[in-house]
Amino acid sequence: MHIPFLDLKATYRELQSECDVAYHRVMESGWYIMGDELRHFEDEFARYCGVKHCIGVGNGLEALHLVLRAWGIGTGDEVIVPANTYIATWLAVTYAGARPVPVEPEPETYNLDSGKIAAAINQNTKAIIAVHLYGQPADMDAINSIARQYHLKVLEDAAQAQGAVYKGRHTGNLGDAAGFSFYPGKNLGAFGDAGAVTTNDDVVAAKIRSLRNYGSKIKYSNEVQGFNSRLDELQAAFLRVKLKHLDEWNRRRRSLAEIYLQKLNGENLSVPYVPEWAEPVWHQFVIRSRSRDELQRYLKDKEIETLIHYPIPPHLSGAYHDLGFKAGNFPLTELLANEVLSLPIGPHQKINMASTVIQTVNNYGKVNEPLPGTYTGTLYPDGKNI
Ligand SMILES: *Cc1c(COP(=O)(O)O)cnc(C)c1O
Repeated sequence: MHIPFLDLKATYRELQSECDVAYHRVMESGWYIMGDELRHFEDEFARYCGVKHCIGVGNGLEALHLVLRAWGIGTGDEVIVPANTYIATWLAVTYAGARPVPVEPEPETYNLDSGKIAAAINQNTKAIIAVHLYGQPADMDAINSIARQYHLKVLEDAAQAQGAVYKGRHTGNLGDAAGFSFYPGKNLGAFGDAGAVTTNDDVVAAKIRSLRNYGSKIKYSNEVQGFNSRLDELQAAFLRVKLKHLDEWNRRRRSLAEIYLQKLNGENLSVPYVPEWAEPVWHQFVIRSRSRDELQRYLKDKEIETLIHYPIPPHLSGAYHDLGFKAGNFPLTELLANEVLSLPIGPHQKINMASTVIQTVNNYGKVNEPLPGTYTGTLYPDGKNI
């Protein structure tokens, strides 16, 4: 059996009739940018996240970038970023003209280690970007409290975590502002590029509305040098359809994750650890193995697709050569880059596919020392899934 990493076409198949209605509604309207679909989607997604404002933008990178711009962050400023993240988090900072200052992750959750933030702060530091990596919320209370102490802004990179919950609150409502990506492969994905900012700050929301559209609130009156970063009507209409299914699709991902967590065994593997206050949405299900590359090849031979998120940390990528980082600067991040492997997971993956993946991974059966972060405790507060 061939097991794809993620079946995107199946998402269209399931929602085909609703998507086709949305498509015809937009095409017949004769209005394709900045119209009713966007306004409705912004209202609906703001309500979903529990925030005052949602501003649709062109993609997730722009969402993060425009928040930094709206906060007036630029040349000479520093922004704390996770060392262990997708490069887009860093690119948002350099796009704004500021300097990314990486901080190592926690060994258990792979998210920003709040205990290491203070040492990275100086008088140029203006903000912290917390990424909810793989769909698991970062420890926002700890991060927000450091930010308050040093008068810093907190930006959530929620690109992988639509619908994830931290202590009863949705991502997008856990910092001063959040950036979302609706890239097709995300939990809430468009059929093209799209993104959004959420915030409770009226002033920042107004600034981003202007920045995304040439820096103008009134047509042809440009108060600031803005950008062209808009979420078009077709994508907004598709996102409205998909938002209604987000919770159900996240539930399907959670069921698969629970099976993986129950059945994957072998001392040689580390499976994800979930703190009791987190309800992740399993954008990725990431295991670790000391023989990751061999394991990935073995799975490929058995027609099981896997991916690596991410093989090269931003500080060692060619893009950030100029910042002068070296191998060994962020040892935990570098270790993760060598050990992580994302197994197939998605709302359209069948249970029997997960079982095949589990059997194959377990059969691989290479015995190493147990890795740190190997799952041992109860997964969710209700304890019922294990
Ligand atoms: C996908 C992603 C982004 C960027 O989103 P785009 O819509 O592709 O620009 C930013 N940060 C993280 C963590 C992501 O996974």
